[in-house]
Amino acid sequence: MDKLTIDKAAALAGIAQAIEADEVTPALRAGATQLVFGVGNPNADVVFIGEAPGASEDKQGEPFVGAAGQFLNEMLASISLDRNDVYITNIVKYRPPGNRDPEADEVEAFRPYLEQQLAVIQPKLVVFLGRHAMNVFLPELKISQAHGQPVRKGGQAYLPLFHPAAALYNSGMRETLIADLARIPVILQKI
Ligand code: URA
Repeated sequence: MDKLTIDKAAALAGIAQAIEADEVTPALRAGATQLVFGVGNPNADVVFIGEAPGASEDKQGEPFVGAAGQFLNEMLASISLDRNDVYITNIVKYRPPGNRDPEADEVEAFRPYLEQQLAVIQPKLVVFLGRHAMNVFLPELKISQAHGQPVRKGGQAYLPLFHPAAALYNSGMRETLIADLARIPVILQKI
């Protein structure tokens, strides 16, 4: 690892510690096994943001390691990337009970830490996995229309995608997600 990557890894570790120290969403924390902070290259060009950990993620402490994560890995491989090339995180970093959707106050509570993560990594492109992540940054958009189209806002490039879990068993959505994600290398070249 080069010095910049080491420095960024240390800064990210500090943000993870701050989430624990600040006792963010104590109710979610009490029901979860552990914090699921993020994984991958601290100096990545591309950051993927999902919704919240599920059961597998809660158990392993790593985002997107269940069925949706497997699908994400396959899609990354199709554009010659793997999990270590990119950075993967969620808006909410403790598993909501019964995999319910994150609530607005939970999303807000984690938002400063998510913004700090992005400020450290400084990715060229932020990819939203699903409407919950997109809504945090681009609440004016609808995922049904915005998916697959890069958006620039406040100097940052974003790409909204369908959520891999939603697309897993819906063949039309699945094909769309695969095609949308495959645009990432072309989008990166233009940034
Ligand atoms: N779905 C998400 O949104 N995030 C995960 O980490 C796993 C499944």
